Amino acid sequence: MLADSHCHLNYKGLAEDQQAVLSRARSRGVTAMLNIATRESEWDAVLATAEREPDVWASVGIHPHEADQHPHVGAAELIARAAHPRVVAIGETGLDYHYDHSDRTRQQESFRAHIEAARVARVPLIVHTRDAEEDTIAILAAEMQHGANTGVIHCFTASDAFADQALALGLYISISGIVTFKNARDLQATATRLPRERLLIETDAPFLAPVPNRGKPGEPAFVADTAAFLADLRGEHVDDLRDYTARNFHALFSKTGNKAAA
Ligand SMILES: [Zn+2]
Ligand SMILES: [Zn+2]
Repeated sequence: MLADSHCHLNYKGLAEDQQAVLSRARSRGVTAMLNIATRESEWDAVLATAEREPDVWASVGIHPHEADQHPHVGAAELIARAAHPRVVAIGETGLDYHYDHSDRTRQQESFRAHIEAARVARVPLIVHTRDAEEDTIAILAAEMQHGANTGVIHCFTASDAFADQALALGLYISISGIVTFKNARDLQATATRLPRERLLIETDAPFLAPVPNRGKPGEPAFVADTAAFLADLRGEHVDDLRDYTARNFHALFSKTGNKAAA
């Protein structure tokens, strides 16, 4: 088993040739992919892929970059969409103070609405965070006072301390191809010590192609390269890492069905 916990199959670069992208992923052993939504205009297409492909599931959400463009999307809209059997998560949501493409207050409002929706719909939350560690943890912790949330910090690049705080909130941490980059020493150190019970892997395709594919558009097939690199880094067998990260995927995104028993 091998799961890509975060990819954008309907983004330019992958959407045009989606069947070939999927078959290259399958030929490298990828058994599950989560196709992530970032804006309302793509929700239907993201879901259509998941309805067509048995090994692809969908999320519903508004990326923090897009928060300004979606003042009308609140918890109710997300909850309604999350009722679909192939929608297994809410996000990606969160805070991005690196690019500041949307107003920070508006990002925070949108993030809170997503957390509420995930809690009500009983699906996990996919959290994007960049240069916003303090506010991300503060908002998650405050919202979780209203009831439990499950979820994942996707494309983790934050500090060791942030990893500990996220784990303490019960969240999973997903490592992308960034971990294979030569200058990613801090991330490699964090990735070495994350507990296997909370570890996921992802491509964030079409972004962030891992070594040895740098320069190409990313695609889910490359999660196999990240798995191999990470297993080596952690001193684990690659088949073992592929299996346990896939089991974690199905445990967290429980609407995908319990493949762990298969
Ligand atoms: Zn993201
Ligand atoms: Zn993404």
